[in-house]
Amino acid sequence: MEIFDLIESSEHEQVIFCSDPKAGLKAIIGIHDTTLGPALGGTRMWTYASNLDAIRDVLRLSKGMTYKAAVAGLNLGGGKAVLIGDPHSEKSEALFRTYGRFVEGIGGRYITAEDVGTTVKDMEWIRMETSFVTGIGSQGGSGDPSPVTAYGTYHGMKACAKFRFGSDSLSGRTIAIQGAGNVARYLAGYLAEENARLLITDIFEDKARQVCAETSAEYIRPEDIYAVDCDIFSPAALGSILNDETIPQLKCAIVAGGANNQLAREQEHARKLVDRDILYAPDYVINAGGLMNVASEIEGYNRERVLKRAEGIYDIMLAILTKARQENVLTIEASNEIAEERLRSVARLGKYHVGSPVIHR
Ligand code: NAD
Repeated sequence: MEIFDLIESSEHEQVIFCSDPKAGLKAIIGIHDTTLGPALGGTRMWTYASNLDAIRDVLRLSKGMTYKAAVAGLNLGGGKAVLIGDPHSEKSEALFRTYGRFVEGIGGRYITAEDVGTTVKDMEWIRMETSFVTGIGSQGGSGDPSPVTAYGTYHGMKACAKFRFGSDSLSGRTIAIQGAGNVARYLAGYLAEENARLLITDIFEDKARQVCAETSAEYIRPEDIYAVDCDIFSPAALGSILNDETIPQLKCAIVAGGANNQLAREQEHARKLVDRDILYAPDYVINAGGLMNVASEIEGYNRERVLKRAEGIYDIMLAILTKARQENVLTIEASNEIAEERLRSVARLGKYHVGSPVIHR
């Protein structure tokens, strides 16, 4: 497929290729839609098998950010960037500062942050060249987003429980969490406080057992997590874990977790969950707390305001689930429609001229 066909079919506004062989820089920045505000999204560093894979990834991820920001009620557009290279061996100050100058040159239409393969330290290098970067560790920075992601996920999960069980109390509910990383650990903390019964796994058994000890949870082996009897299955590790192999094993009423891109094939696997009478909480909606956290940095970071906003995921989720039921559509279709409707209605505002007229005498 030709590059402009790819860009056109994903409806991107702009795709920027950045190159500096001496600094080892090969970057692609995708700006999907800036109707709501500047495009914000992380910079991913990855060893892509081909340049086309990198282009496809940046287009997919940046479009996803438009929907995430729109449904979360943020005044941000969708963007994302990829750095082609090995994050373990090919990082340098020159690479990130050179990349930072490219970001600066875009003039604020794109704001970056950390993502898979990049760290707060890399963002500090970018910050030396541009202010269009969030998630920095120094003063005024929003720091680690995972506590807020977990807090939003917790409230989204409560909304799912309310919708499915008639009560949003998670006390006594059995919740199986896949992964014992940053998001999972904080989420388990909130759930333990509410006296949920927790089952936790991780490919690193020590890590899972540590979280189990902190939250009185039961350790489950990674291969057993899909088939455990539970009320809620909460993916908090990798993507594509809801697929042909795993969906038939599930013994839960709800899937609600913080991991990104949980459905291997979006429509098909969301449909398979419905066929098994399992309620699916769209991942990009329930895990939007992390984006809310970095977004707050732009307006002046305020922890209290961020947590309040993350609590709002409860109402957002309930609205999506209600719409899906009323219109007999998939929950991901309902959330996509809500995002698109917000984009359309905000775009209409542009038709009102509000500036003062320029009078030539
Ligand atoms: P993390 O790296 O801290 O934790 C992921 C954990 O999953 C690790 O402990 C890892 O060992 C474990 N894991 C990997 N494969 C596994 C498997 N097959 N079975 C069981 N455990 C497995 O990452 P995180 O920041 O906690 O993020 C978790 C998920 O949430 C990711 O999908 C991420 O993209 C998504 N997410 C995170 C944030 C955030 O604020 N950190 C925001 C939005 C979405």
